Amino acid sequence: MSVNFPYLSIVIPIHNEQENLEELYSRLTQTLDKLGKSYEIILTNDGSTDRSSEMLKELHLRRPDQIRVIEFNGNFGQHMAIMAGFERVRGEIIITMDADLQNPPEEIPKLVAAMEAGHDVVNTHRQERQDNAWRLFVSRAHNKMREWMMPKLKMQDEGCMLRAYRRRIVDLMASTGEATTFIPALALNYATNPTEVGVAHAPRSAGTSNYNFYKLIRYNFDLVTGFSLFPLQVFTMIGMSVSFFSFLFVVFLILRRLIIGPEVQGVFTLFAIMFFLLGIVLLGLGVVGEYIGRIYQEVRKRPRFVIREVLEKKASQSVLESVRE
Ligand code: UDP
Ligand code: MG
Repeated sequence: MSVNFPYLSIVIPIHNEQENLEELYSRLTQTLDKLGKSYEIILTNDGSTDRSSEMLKELHLRRPDQIRVIEFNGNFGQHMAIMAGFERVRGEIIITMDADLQNPPEEIPKLVAAMEAGHDVVNTHRQERQDNAWRLFVSRAHNKMREWMMPKLKMQDEGCMLRAYRRRIVDLMASTGEATTFIPALALNYATNPTEVGVAHAPRSAGTSNYNFYKLIRYNFDLVTGFSLFPLQVFTMIGMSVSFFSFLFVVFLILRRLIIGPEVQGVFTLFAIMFFLLGIVLLGLGVVGEYIGRIYQEVRKRPRFVIREVLEKKASQSVLESVRE
């Protein structure tokens, strides 16, 4: 394998990670050098406002054959940063991970071994997860909800981004052109022989998480709306049962009026029922809105991300020719 067409491609999204890049570089290259396979590292700078951009340039100059940098024009989100990497990968096995060292690079050989055993997707779950209690609660609740809504999506832990994919799967994912997506779920749609391994998890090495409560909700909606119609169907079901029971209620009221006479009490009970139903209607509208908003984004056909600059060595002509033969 030549340097131009390495065996492994590591794809990492970067958003304000200046304190982590140096350690990421040293631990990652050490692990990969020890593994003894040819590799490239693709780092996408997703609109960082700190010194990440200059630092990435410097890393590229340190190892121009192996380190490729994609500079985004702004902040397009973690999954788009990975997608941009997917569009350019040259390796046979592709590994994604976070830049903040919550996914220890030392776990990569474990993923490579699982791929070499014949799997086309290697999912992971975080053993002894190191996040605060609030994040653990949200994540657990969301994993449970996803299992219930999307039983076909077989993964224990959707939040862990340290994963490995065969090139075929990555090419399929890159070709979808989806602007709002959730990469681990998308991969499972195309996988024929996925597996799952446990990996270690560390607290964020430095800096702060890029996800606040609001962003976490938005992010989880991307997963739900992108891979399930369940939320829409739930409202059909609620609508059907409410109509059914209201019909029974009307029949009851008519009979009561005929037999006992008109009633005047119970105004507040009626209000309570009204407000409850109004709440459900508003929630339903919101859910429909989540889908429509995403459809709107897709039909506008704006580019899903904009690349300002790419720092990489071109694949050499002779290598391209030998591949074509
Ligand atoms: N990230 C990104 N763009 C964003 C937010 C995050 O590229 O808009 C990257 C970030 O640099 C990190 C990874 O995505 O490499 C995961 O982000 P973070 O660690 O902040 O999320 P958490 O671990 O708290 O879920
Ligand atoms: Mg993190």
